[in-house]
Amino acid sequence: MLWKTTEYTGWGRVLNATGDIARPERAATLARIMQDTPAPAFGNRRSYGDSPLNDGGRAIDMTRMDKVLAFDPDTGIVEAEAGIRLGELMRLFAPRGWTPAVVPGTGFCTLGGAIANDVHGKNHHVAGSFGEHVVSVTLFSGGKRVTASPSRQKTLFRATMGGIGQTGVILSAKIKMKPCPGTAMRVTERRIDDWDDQIDALEASTAPYAVSWIDAQAKGSKLGRGILEEAELAGQNLPSRAKPKSVPVNIGLFSNSLFTKGFNAGYLRRIPVGGRTSDKPMEDFFFPLDKVHGMTKLYGKAGFHQFQCVVGPDQTDALRGMMERIARSGLASPLAVLKRMGAGRAGMLSFPMEGYTLAVDFPNRDKARKLIGALEQMCAEAGGRLYLAKDSLATGETIKAMYPEWQDWVAEAAKADPEGALITDMVRRLDMRSAT
Ligand SMILES: Cc1cc2nc3c(=O)[nH]c(=O)nc-3n(C[C@H](O)[C@H](O)[C@H](O)COP(=O)(O)OP(=O)(O)OC[C@H]3O[C@@H](n4cnc5c(N)ncnc54)[C@H](O)[C@@H]3O)c2cc1C
Repeated sequence: MLWKTTEYTGWGRVLNATGDIARPERAATLARIMQDTPAPAFGNRRSYGDSPLNDGGRAIDMTRMDKVLAFDPDTGIVEAEAGIRLGELMRLFAPRGWTPAVVPGTGFCTLGGAIANDVHGKNHHVAGSFGEHVVSVTLFSGGKRVTASPSRQKTLFRATMGGIGQTGVILSAKIKMKPCPGTAMRVTERRIDDWDDQIDALEASTAPYAVSWIDAQAKGSKLGRGILEEAELAGQNLPSRAKPKSVPVNIGLFSNSLFTKGFNAGYLRRIPVGGRTSDKPMEDFFFPLDKVHGMTKLYGKAGFHQFQCVVGPDQTDALRGMMERIARSGLASPLAVLKRMGAGRAGMLSFPMEGYTLAVDFPNRDKARKLIGALEQMCAEAGGRLYLAKDSLATGETIKAMYPEWQDWVAEAAKADPEGALITDMVRRLDMRSAT
């Protein structure tokens, strides 16, 4: 049976959907589906909100289409089906000297999902976004199988990178990986005292990979304190050391501010005052949260939201204002990170802009939703942008104002999908496909 009625959610487990899901294993089956009953696709549903959902309609789960189709060991160009996980590409190719040039904080992100959100990694300030390393993408678009690249079908290509799946279902892509001397990372961690120290340290960092954890409960003179991690590829082979942990039930620890305060203080103390440098297996550095199975249960049954925004380099005071508000609320979970971003972005709806991006998880409660609303407004006033991969609360008006090429994207999505068969819950909620 091709279609099976299923209940499913995004990563935040706040918004859910019920609908018929197909899980094709072959390109021919996918082609047939797209001919007869076109529907939006999803990967591993690591997006937090409703971008992979289609409540009451059909959707295509791409995770069985996960084959490597070709690899050139001289150039590092790999061609793979859209459902392959980026963590799997790293696991397969790093021992052979190549790794995806950009990976987000989860190795469960599929190739199709990485393209559809034009994801960024801890090296965005030097390597740009995922889509900038895509050589070509093959998709079922406008009733045909089409291949687009930066030089062929350019507009379709730019509408597809970060295009939240609205220009077609991605079948496969070729990406250019980067050389790596081993399967390890040399990581230097050091304590950061406060907000100004955070910005100064990220600004001054010359490391190819840099990310800062923030204790989002710390206030006053400790506002913004945290740990800066700087890293580079290291020339040795280390297998993953981290033992998977499991959260068996909805215990809701991350919804408890007393627990979070204690956790954060202990987390900071792990790092000696003078800092430390160690070699870690790549996946432990890139995907630390993947080792905790059922992690989302730490927020309890009600689920959680992530607020992620980016603001320009001259807007760090606005970001500080957001941090003050978050710290005052006492609502943030231990998951809060700050990264520097470069200007690199591959598509019309790509999130990145040069500056700083802040991401904070909150348990799903009334007070947190109100706070996120206020933070979104502060981001808009600072000329910043919200990330669709994380969003479940914004309004269409807010989002459209943040993405200046949105109308060009609407026109391209309309050409690719004139009947609106690829529309998802997020696109409906934000009314993204209407040109006004
Ligand atoms: C722990 C964690 C850490 C993260 N860290 C980062 C980070 O550092 N940087 C970052 O940028 N993001 C980050 N993310 C977000 C995540 O990388 C993105 O949401 C990514 O798109 C998820 O990929 P997925 O395969 O699960 O796609 P899904 O969430 O299933 O889908 C995402 C979008 O892609 C579309 N899509 C998926 N597959 C296809 C296809 N084959 N054809 C057409 N459309 C498709 C869907 O319709 C949807 O719009 C993180 C998420 C988690 C859970």
